[in-house]
Amino acid sequence: MSSSIDELARANVRKLVPYQSARRLGGKGDVWLNANEYPIGTAYQLSTDTFNRYPECQPQAVINNYASYAGVNADQVLVSRGADEGIELLIRAFCEPGQDAVLYCPPTYGMYGVSAETFGVERRTVALREDWQLDLPAIEQNLAGVKLIYVCSPNNPTGNLLSPTDLRQLLELAAGKAIVAVDEAYIEFAPYATLVPWLTEFPHMVVLRTLSKAFALAGLRCGFTLGSPEMITLLLKVIAPYPLSTPVADIAAQALSPDGVAAMRQRVQTILENRALLVKALTECDCVEAVYPGEGNYLVFRCSAAAAVFKSLWDQGIILRDQSKQPSLSNCLRITIGTQAENNQVIAALRAFPNAVAAKEFSKEAV
Ligand SMILES: *Cc1c(COP(=O)(O)O)cnc(C)c1O
Repeated sequence: MSSSIDELARANVRKLVPYQSARRLGGKGDVWLNANEYPIGTAYQLSTDTFNRYPECQPQAVINNYASYAGVNADQVLVSRGADEGIELLIRAFCEPGQDAVLYCPPTYGMYGVSAETFGVERRTVALREDWQLDLPAIEQNLAGVKLIYVCSPNNPTGNLLSPTDLRQLLELAAGKAIVAVDEAYIEFAPYATLVPWLTEFPHMVVLRTLSKAFALAGLRCGFTLGSPEMITLLLKVIAPYPLSTPVADIAAQALSPDGVAAMRQRVQTILENRALLVKALTECDCVEAVYPGEGNYLVFRCSAAAAVFKSLWDQGIILRDQSKQPSLSNCLRITIGTQAENNQVIAALRAFPNAVAAKEFSKEAV
C-alpha cells in the first residue's frame, strides 16, 4: 500500500486543477501579451525601513488613498494580496463548504472556480449568452443554494461591459439570498461604467479592484474590495493578520497618491490609443476573421486557425493567450495591448502567417 501524501490530501484538493496562470503556462520570448499586464514598469523608492516591525493589517495610507481615488469612505475599503485574495475572502466569509454554491458566467475569469474548488464549495455556472451578456432567466433558475455570484465587467477574456440594466436586475434577484461581487479589475479603462455609486443602494454588493492592470503593478500583489462598512468588517474577520508586507504598502500608497493616479490616467490614455490602432491592424490581417470590441487593455479575436497562429507566434517569442477551449470562444486568442513596438511586431507576424486558406489546411493536419 502506498502511503502517498496525495492520499492524505482533501479529496477536492486531490482533484483540483490549479489556475493556469500566464506565468505557469511558460513561454520564451520578448513579447509578453498574455497576462493583461501594463507593458512598462515604473520605478519606486521605498520610504520606510522599519522591517523589524509587523505591518499594519490595513495600512492607513493605502486605505485612505484608495478611498479618495474610488470615491468611497475609508470604512468601505479592504486591501488584500491582489484582487485574487478578495475573491477568496468572500468565499471564506459567505460559503459553507459542501453546502453553499458560488455562481459565475463563463467565459470569464478562472479564479472564481478555482477558489471555490479549493474550499470545497460547489461551482454553479450559467454560460453568458451569445452576445456575452448575462442570461438572467437561467441565473434565476439556478439560484438555489447560491451564496455568492461573481460577475466581471469589463469581462475577462471577452472584453465587453455587462449591461447596467442586467446588473441592476441581477442585484434585485439576489437581494436577501446572495452576495454579488462585481469584478472591476479593468474598470480604469472604462471608468464611466463603475458600479461603485450603487454601493449605497445595494448592501449585498461588493466591487473588486486591483493595482495589477492600469496601475502597472501586477508584481506588487495588491487589490481592493469595496463594500458596505458591515461587509468590510465581516471580511476583516477572515483576512490574514498581515496580508500586505511593508514594502507593498509603501509602494501602493505612492501609486495611489494624486501623482500616481495621474500617471495611471496617462497610461490608460496610451493603451486606449494603441488599442484602437491594434483593432484596425488586426482587422486587416488575412488570418483574422473577427476582432471583438473590448473595453479593457486586451482584445479577443477569432482566427481561421487559432492553434496554428498561436503556435507560430509562440515560436517567434510572441506570447498570447489561447482562449479557444472556453465556451463560445472557439478559435479565439486574447492579446494584451502592448507598447506600439510590441503591437507592430505581432501584426508583422500575423501578416506573414500563411493566408487563411493555407491556415485551414494546417489546422486540419494538426487535428
Ligand atoms: C487580473 C485579474 C484579477 C486579479 O487581480 P490581482 O489583483 O492581480 O490578483 C482579478 N479579476 C480579473 C478579471 C482579472 O483579470
